[in-house]
Amino acid sequence: MRKHIVIISQGENLQASVRKIFKDLGWHDLRRKRVLLKPNMLRAAQPDECVVTSPLLIDETVSFLTSVGADVMVGDNPMPDSRFRNVNEIADYCGFLEVAKGNFRNISRYAKKVKKPKALLKEFYVSREIFDCEMLVSLPKYKSHELTTMTLSVKNHFGIIPGGLKPYIHSLFPRIEDFSKVLIEIYETRVPDVIIVDCLDTIDAKGKKHRPGILIAGDNGHAVDFACALMAGIDPLRVPTIKIARDAGLFNPKMITYVGNLPRLQGFGLPFSFPLRNSVVEFVARILYKLWLARVPVIDSVACTRCLSCENVCPPRAIIDRHVDYSKCIRCYCCVEVCPNRAIRNKSRLVGHYLRSQK
Ligand code: SF4
Ligand code: SF4
Repeated sequence: MRKHIVIISQGENLQASVRKIFKDLGWHDLRRKRVLLKPNMLRAAQPDECVVTSPLLIDETVSFLTSVGADVMVGDNPMPDSRFRNVNEIADYCGFLEVAKGNFRNISRYAKKVKKPKALLKEFYVSREIFDCEMLVSLPKYKSHELTTMTLSVKNHFGIIPGGLKPYIHSLFPRIEDFSKVLIEIYETRVPDVIIVDCLDTIDAKGKKHRPGILIAGDNGHAVDFACALMAGIDPLRVPTIKIARDAGLFNPKMITYVGNLPRLQGFGLPFSFPLRNSVVEFVARILYKLWLARVPVIDSVACTRCLSCENVCPPRAIIDRHVDYSKCIRCYCCVEVCPNRAIRNKSRLVGHYLRSQK
């Protein structure tokens, strides 16, 4: 296995940082290359919400690639939002349309079927653009995530699945272990050539903002994600996709060469997760946790503006008229992610039932 280079770059001079990342990863001649930039445009969000990739990073990456003669397109495929008529309006709200300089594309329109008979997800569709481009550049946002612990390079690639198929895949694989394997299967369908994680600013599981002011980059997404998790101050193998990728031999933490200093974020809040170990104690703890303490989404009807984004995204259709049917909920937390008003919070199952009984 060859070494994985992970570059940690101070983002003060973003233009210089982006240029150096491509150079250090060995990309010297990019003339006439068809490049697709895949940011994280999960939902309509302003940059200061720290939910989507910073438009500044997209801007500098587009500018650099264009200056060296590449043919650049920016594309993503967010969750539908009833407040916006189409994907371009969402991209505009996120600030992506302007920095794409006329080259933004909704990548959910043309899909290609992929068959993997030996995989968990045997057949699925992905955006055709990821195969049409000669170079795929992933620009994930550094975030915590209730289900997958963190959202990084592998999770950003879930965006290559067109629109409503994302919740469908979630519903097929409600267990975190299975869903994480499926995320990796999708990622490995067309791995990015360059990954630059936007760690300029971020928000943790408790809603606290942090400003690391750096970019973490590389060409092996699993190694990059490993470094990102280290920065959060956790054992990276607590992130299921990282552990599964390591066990499958997709990367080796010992083969990572770090270029630059990796800081440690102080007090970065992450959701509770069980380490994926097989022990009797953990088995019992998991059952008790599931029965009493598992966190479920609770809707704050005062903060809710009835935009219906949560209902539309919910894989098993467990939300109807702002009420969550916990017998159907698979705890994927997609609703928490897409709510534009932070009107859905995760609370322990007991609290969720208590609040419902008070209505
Ligand atoms: S809870 Fe959030 S996502 Fe759901 S309808 Fe209300 S505002 Fe929209
Ligand atoms: S209610 Fe929320 S957490 Fe539960 S299944 Fe639906 S989207 Fe997922």
